[in-house]
Amino acid sequence: MLKLGSHVSMKGADMLAGSVEEALSYGANAFMVYTGAPQNTQRKPIDKLRIEEAHQRMRAAGIALEDVVIHAPYIINLANADEQKRSFAVEFLIEEVRRSAAIGAQDIVLHPGNHLDDSLDTAVERIARGLDEVLAATEGLTVRIALETMSGKGTEVGRRFEEIAAVIARTERKERLSVCFDTCHTHDAGYDVKDDFPGVMRAFDRVIGLERLAVFHINDSKNPRGANKDRHENLGLGHIGFSALSAIVHDEKYAHIPKILETPYVTADADAKKRIHPPYKEEIAMLKERRFDENFIARIRENPSPKKG
Ligand code: FE
Ligand code: FE
Ligand code: ZN
Repeated sequence: MLKLGSHVSMKGADMLAGSVEEALSYGANAFMVYTGAPQNTQRKPIDKLRIEEAHQRMRAAGIALEDVVIHAPYIINLANADEQKRSFAVEFLIEEVRRSAAIGAQDIVLHPGNHLDDSLDTAVERIARGLDEVLAATEGLTVRIALETMSGKGTEVGRRFEEIAAVIARTERKERLSVCFDTCHTHDAGYDVKDDFPGVMRAFDRVIGLERLAVFHINDSKNPRGANKDRHENLGLGHIGFSALSAIVHDEKYAHIPKILETPYVTADADAKKRIHPPYKEEIAMLKERRFDENFIARIRENPSPKKG
């Protein structure tokens, strides 16, 4: 069975219950949430997340807990040289893992970190140390930290599979580490996701190991392969293209892996600045039907998807 969804919001009074409704409004059977705004670290207490209601609704709608993915905020940098910032990142991530466990998710996606002015080697070591602290403090929980493959913009760690593998190799508690494969990021990092996905996955298996693969982020890219930019594009409108992305989504070998769209919202009209319409209902429908509709953005503008939360 295809496990397909998008990132959805978790906010307001409805929190996770609203996230489930939003996912269902897109026709999704999987989803990903940030536990609050991705760019800050203000979070509500677990008892305000409306988890019980969300679970009931998920059971009724047939969304499995294993297809709920959490994403840690992207300002967390375990590679930070500043000891205070690094320990804040560790403490925050410990709480994120606890929230993820309370939500019942299996994996929390984490950008490995940014090496800033330091060597890659130093960064890898700091990340591994930070992960060990987080994993030790949350011992007994089954939530895994899914290191995301990165595009290589700025000083990101994780643009080569080797960098992810190095972090895993240096972490003591490897059994709770998994990996999130982002199609835009790997393409931007130089992997030939468009024309040789099987070859890319052979490399992934050789370097990291397919058994670590936990989540796919399905995004097209605004830039050519190897651009190291990380600018997501709507499906079929970028340099990867719809047929390659659809083939990945429908690849039987990865049927058990949830696929999460993080494509950009679309504007009300071509020159509007504000991106207000989520594209997920239309993109999920296109993927299910395996048929690209080149007018889908125009259709979203005419008939915006309901946005909950
Ligand atoms: Fe991410
Ligand atoms: Fe991603
Ligand atoms: Zn990205």
